[in-house]
Amino acid sequence: KPPVHVIGGGLAGSEAAWQLARRGIRVILHEMRPTRATDAHRTQALAELVCSNSFRSDDATSNAVGVLHAEMRRLGSLIMACADRHQLPAGGALAVDRDAFAAAVTAAIESHPAITVERGEIDGLPPDAWDSVIIATGPLTSPALAEAIRARTDETALAFFDAIAPIVHFDSIDMDVCWFQSRYDKAGPGGTGADYINCPMDKAQYEAFVAALIASDTVPFRDFEAATPYFDGCLPIEVMAARGPETLRHGPMKPMGLTNAHNPTVKPYAVVQLRQDNALGTLFNMVGFQTKTRHSEQVRILRMIPGLENAEFARLGGLHRNTYLNSPKLLDGTLRLKVEPRLRFAGQITGCEGYVESAAMGLMAGLFASAERLGDEPSVPPPTTAFGALINHITGGHIETVEAGPRSFQPMNINFGLFPPLEANPTRDGEGNRLRGTQKTVAKKQVMAARALRELDQWATLHADPSSEAAA
Ligand code: FAD
Repeated sequence: KPPVHVIGGGLAGSEAAWQLARRGIRVILHEMRPTRATDAHRTQALAELVCSNSFRSDDATSNAVGVLHAEMRRLGSLIMACADRHQLPAGGALAVDRDAFAAAVTAAIESHPAITVERGEIDGLPPDAWDSVIIATGPLTSPALAEAIRARTDETALAFFDAIAPIVHFDSIDMDVCWFQSRYDKAGPGGTGADYINCPMDKAQYEAFVAALIASDTVPFRDFEAATPYFDGCLPIEVMAARGPETLRHGPMKPMGLTNAHNPTVKPYAVVQLRQDNALGTLFNMVGFQTKTRHSEQVRILRMIPGLENAEFARLGGLHRNTYLNSPKLLDGTLRLKVEPRLRFAGQITGCEGYVESAAMGLMAGLFASAERLGDEPSVPPPTTAFGALINHITGGHIETVEAGPRSFQPMNINFGLFPPLEANPTRDGEGNRLRGTQKTVAKKQVMAARALRELDQWATLHADPSSEAAA
C-alpha cells in the first residue's frame, strides 16, 4: 500500500506518524527544519517545545488537560510516553526536560522501520499522487504552504493572527445581575431576540474599569509578531481605553438598545455583552473584548464587571501570531478537508491550542488515517471524552452568529466547558453531606472526568486496535 504522508514533524505530526506506524502503515514524515527555519523553533529535533516546558496539570481526576493526558496514555501516545520518561519535578504539573524529550521523540520516529523522515519544505499543495496526507504544520506553517491552503479554500478560511476575547463558563455568571437580551430585541436568523448576556455598569463602575485597563500591564509582542498591525475592528480593549474615556462606551460597551431587566427604569451607562460560544450553551465569549493584558491582571480587571465577580474563564484573551483554519466550516468530523478529503489536518492548525491538544489531534488524525488505510470506518470518540470534546469543538460544536461573522471560531485549550453537561450535577459528597460553593464545581469536574475515562475505555475496546504495537 502507498505510504501516508505527514507534513510537519512537530507535536502533532510526530504523534500522527507514530500512530500510523504502530499499526503497520508506512509513513513519510516531511519536516522542513533545518532546511528552512520557523521564527520560534531553535533546533532540528522533532516535537521541539518552542516555549514553556510544561504539559500543564497531570490531574486526571478533576482537570480537563489531565484527563486528556490520561486518554492519550491509554491510546499509546508517543508524546506522552516520552514526556513521562523525561518528567521533571513540577508539583501537579507534567513538566519535561525539553531537550531529552524532543531527542526521545526524534529517536523513536527515526528508528521506526515503517517511518521515513524527509527533511525539506512542502511549499505548495501536496502532489495529487499522495492519496492520504496529514498536514500538521502548526501555528508557524511556512508562508508558501499557507498560501496554497488559503487558495484551495477561500480568503476567510485561514487566519494568521488570533485576536481572542475571553470566554466565560455560563454557570459562573450571576444572572441576578445580568440579563438576556439582543440589542433592540433584534432576532437575527436562528436568534430569539434574547441571544446576549448583558452586564450593566453605572458611570462610576465604568470609569473605574477604564482606569484599571489603562493602568494594566500587557504582554509584549514577540519580535516576529511586532510587525503585524492590529486588524481593523479588533483592537485590544486596553488600546481602545487609552484612546479616550468614551471610546469603549461607543464601541463594544455601548449601552444603546438595552434595558436592564432587573432594573428597567435606570439606563445603564455602559454594557458588556457576552455571546453564546458553543452549541452546548456552556460557554459565552465577551464580545469585542480581545486583550493583551497579562492573564493575572485580566482576571482581576474582568471580575470588576457587574455579574462577572465570580467568573470562571475557559480561556483568557490574547493576540498571537497563529495560523489556523476555520475548521467548523472546512473540516469534516474526522478532520478531512471537505473540498479535498485526501488532505487531513492535525495539531494547532485545526484550531486547538497548546502542546497537549495539538499532540492529541495528531493522535486522532493518525488513528483516522490508519482506519482508512486498513479499510475500516474511522470512529470518533464520544463527546463526553476529552478527545471527543476537542474534536467536537473543532469540527462542529462552535456557534457562528451572523453578527460575529464567519471568522468567529477561535482556538481553545481543552476545558470542561467543551464537555456535554451532566444530566444532574452532584449536590452531596460520598458521605451524604450537602456540597457548597467551590466543592460543587470540583465534584462536577470529578464526575465529568470519571465519565470521560470510562467512556474512552469503552470506545477504545471497540475502535482503537488494542493489539497494535505498544508505545515507545
Ligand atoms: P508545531 O509543533 O509547530 O510543528 C509544526 C512543524 O511543521 C514544525 O516542526 C515546522 O518546522 C513544520 N513545518 C511548517 N511548515 C512546513 C512545511 N511547509 N513543510 C514541512 N514542514 C513544515 N503551547 C503550549 O502548550 N505552551 C507554550 O508555552 C506555547 N508557547 C508557544 C510559543 C510560540 C511562539 C508559539 C508560536 C506557539 C506556542 N504554543 C505553546 C503553541 C504551540 O506551538 C503548539 O501548542 C504546538 O507546538 C503546536 O503543535 P503542532 O504540531 O501543531 O505544530
